[in-house]
Amino acid sequence: MRRLYLVMGDQLSRELASLQDAVPGQDVIVMGELSHEATSVRHHKQKIILIFSAMRHFAQEMRDAGFTVIYQNYDADKSAASFADLLKDAADQTDITDVAMTRASEYRVTAWQDEIAADWQGNVQLYDDDRFLATKDDFTSWAAGKKQLRMEFFYREMRRKYNILLEGDKPVGGQWNYDSENRKPPKSGLSIPPKTSFVADDITREVIELVQAHFADHFGTHDAFNMAVSRDQALLVLQKFIDERLPDFGSYQDAMITDEPFMFHAHIGAYINIGLLTPLEVIKQVEIAYYNGHAPLNAVEGFIRQILGWREYIRGIYWHFMPDYAAMNALNAERNLPSFFWDGKTAMNCLSQSIGQTIEHAYAHHIQRLMIIGNFSLLAGLSPKQVNEWFLIVYSDAFEWVEMPNVSGMVLFADDGIVASKPYAAGGNYIDKMSDYCKGCRYKVKEKTGEDACPFNYLYWDFLLRHEDKLRGNPRLGMIYRTADKMSVEKIEAIRSDSRKFLSALK
Ligand SMILES: Cc1cc2nc3c(=O)[nH]c(=O)nc-3n(C[C@H](O)[C@H](O)[C@H](O)COP(=O)(O)OP(=O)(O)OC[C@H]3O[C@@H](n4cnc5c(N)ncnc54)[C@H](O)[C@@H]3O)c2cc1C
Ligand code: SF4
Repeated sequence: MRRLYLVMGDQLSRELASLQDAVPGQDVIVMGELSHEATSVRHHKQKIILIFSAMRHFAQEMRDAGFTVIYQNYDADKSAASFADLLKDAADQTDITDVAMTRASEYRVTAWQDEIAADWQGNVQLYDDDRFLATKDDFTSWAAGKKQLRMEFFYREMRRKYNILLEGDKPVGGQWNYDSENRKPPKSGLSIPPKTSFVADDITREVIELVQAHFADHFGTHDAFNMAVSRDQALLVLQKFIDERLPDFGSYQDAMITDEPFMFHAHIGAYINIGLLTPLEVIKQVEIAYYNGHAPLNAVEGFIRQILGWREYIRGIYWHFMPDYAAMNALNAERNLPSFFWDGKTAMNCLSQSIGQTIEHAYAHHIQRLMIIGNFSLLAGLSPKQVNEWFLIVYSDAFEWVEMPNVSGMVLFADDGIVASKPYAAGGNYIDKMSDYCKGCRYKVKEKTGEDACPFNYLYWDFLLRHEDKLRGNPRLGMIYRTADKMSVEKIEAIRSDSRKFLSALK
């Protein structure tokens, strides 16, 4: 039986569940650069370049493997074209009446898949996406009956399920988690390897021209685009990460240095999310680096925890709590996003660095997202809807299933503690300890209130005081509220008045 195989822009894996049954010379691959997907929000220009170019490279690989590929290039005039339209066009061209596709990663797209399946009256086969390492059912069973869904315990189950870094049923080295060794502040003279980057080929150049022509008003710049756009290139990024960065990944995982956006991170999030790399192959290769003696356990365990633990857990949370999760706003945060989120123009050096490089590279590492941009969004009480949309726009790795629980759960506490046991709130001291940003800042990190004080300092206490009713009972915040209890009335008034002044001046 000949079938149409619909492949979406984040399903660019030859091992995709549905494609495993596809037969070269017989079956037809259907792909399209849909206008409503590219413009649903003002995605970063580099994110569109990455996805369109990777799709075109993947289509070429499938043609080289002997498949017929029906590929619809971006067409601004076909703004209403949907996945259903793509399949109907392909069916008209080929007379094929059966369809295979792998379940989409995002909630709204799976709803369309169900509509397509209903329209095609039983001629559609839907496959679960087995690139993820925990099925939705695995997560549901794990979550059943638990009061708290903490990542750490889920992660241990996943280590056991895939037999990763285990000796018998015990963790290698005796501990499950080496995070306490992974918080070294930056030091001068660190030798950070250059990011693995690629020169645009003809396909990518054509896509860049398309983006210049049609997406000029989207976020970010495209000049620095140098990402991998094929599986071979993504594999090279992974290999160079393991060779050059992994040994220091753990120690400096949280560190931030001026004009060093990439540090010892892997820069593979986008490649895993669109299918150029699979999570399991990444984990296995990193595990081998430990057994070969190339990288220490704190780095290897710390890295594997991000993918086998956090990535899978976050996806589990998304599916477990959608669609309600999208509307959660436990702290009733309603403030509009300030304009500097779009242009990086703020006197707060940490934010201007983190947002500036986001504009330039469609990338910021985890701690910049969490403890600088996210922390500010939390303390300033920015609207979860707007913050979610911003994070979905600005990073090349951003897809709703992974962006939303990170933003609403880990950063904003909008989910009332489903993901985080307490809000990740911090004052300027944390930023000063983990970065060199404060040296170049107009504000003074040691000052707590007043004109020159670091805004994170008074906003931190203002946030805790504002939400005292909700947060005082949190056992992890007990000590902090006891410190607040010892503050003088004058100090509290200064905190509140500086915060009011600062927040009302945000445009
Ligand atoms: C507010 C906020 C928003 C985020 N939005 C996204 C997003 O839209 N897409 C996305 O893929 N990641 C997101 N993350 C997680 C993380 O910041 C990125 O995966 C990471 O920065 C990507 O860069 P890297 O490949 O260099 O990661 P590394 O630091 O080298 O980590 C390796 C890999 O671990 C995985 N990982 C690490 N942390 C997480 C996490 N919290 N959730 C899921 N996977 C994780 C990623 O696959 C990543 O590539 C977000 C985190 C925060 C705090
Ligand atoms: S002083 Fe405050 S605002 Fe300035 S860089 Fe440091 S933490 Fe950021």
